Amino acid sequence: MDSLANAAFIARITALAGELEQQSFPDGALYVVATPIGNMGDISLRALKVLSLCSAIACEDTRKTGQLLARLDIDKPLLSAHQHNEREVADKIISRLHAGERIALVSDAGTPAISDPGARIVDAVITAGLRVIPIAGVSAAVTALSVSGLIADQFHFVGFLPARDKQREAVLRSLQPSEATLVFYEAPHRIADTIAAMARVFEPSRQVVIGRELSKVFEQVHRCPVSEAAQWLASDPNHQRGEFVVLIEAATAVNNDGLDEAVRVLDILLEACSVSQAAALASRITGVKKNQLYDIALTRTPRSS
Ligand code: SAM
Repeated sequence: MDSLANAAFIARITALAGELEQQSFPDGALYVVATPIGNMGDISLRALKVLSLCSAIACEDTRKTGQLLARLDIDKPLLSAHQHNEREVADKIISRLHAGERIALVSDAGTPAISDPGARIVDAVITAGLRVIPIAGVSAAVTALSVSGLIADQFHFVGFLPARDKQREAVLRSLQPSEATLVFYEAPHRIADTIAAMARVFEPSRQVVIGRELSKVFEQVHRCPVSEAAQWLASDPNHQRGEFVVLIEAATAVNNDGLDEAVRVLDILLEACSVSQAAALASRITGVKKNQLYDIALTRTPRSS
């Protein structure tokens, strides 16, 4: 960015930060604050504001949050709130909220309570009749979904699979017929085993998306049939390093008989209608999802006009 453009960029951020002065940040509330998953540029202005305004920050790991706050030049007392003490910390937070304080809740990275501690604290605060305010931001799952190109109306967030082979495979088998995009978190030392288990369970042509080191310097998003994913992982030692989100394409919504009939109807309609009209009509006639038929229609041989 040249220096003029950079000055304009900084002026815009300053103006946006100024606009926050007009917004209200009620006291006596718990703020659930999302933080970056790797790239500090993803911190939101609202997150910066709340972390500066609050009187204490409840966090999963005081060392990691301390490092984050040091980079943001924010100095606040930290309350350690991990998996094993959430209920006790909730009691402390509730009495401070009753006294009118603003308390922020963060996790090590991303959105609290998503495969991270936080839900018990939020539950206790709601039950105590106090206010919980989300400060939205990054979550690795949604980040990966947004660049997956997997087309489904639903997604099923699974998070981490069981570590043991048998249990992992049983969970995958139970998810195999799901008509939602499946979303998993995985650690580097287990990614190869998980991908191998997925190849055993899912149809070979099902698409898998491997989102690695999202928002970081070595970010990669690789999409391929599940049968080819192990080969990709093995093709470069770097492919197994870092943090991973793995997505599996949704199962087809109808059995093949239903789809064959829908495609037959679609082909007839395509002789007279546009792609979107043909997909909409074929969907009404056969009950197969319009989006699915639209995608199929795009792959049919173009007709000569
Ligand atoms: N609360 C976080 C969120 O909102 O995404 C998730 C916390 S969970 C303990 C951490 C897992 O999220 C990692 O093991 C990895 O599977 C995934 N993850 C976090 N950051 C990531 C990144 N930059 N790239 C890919 N996956 C990431």
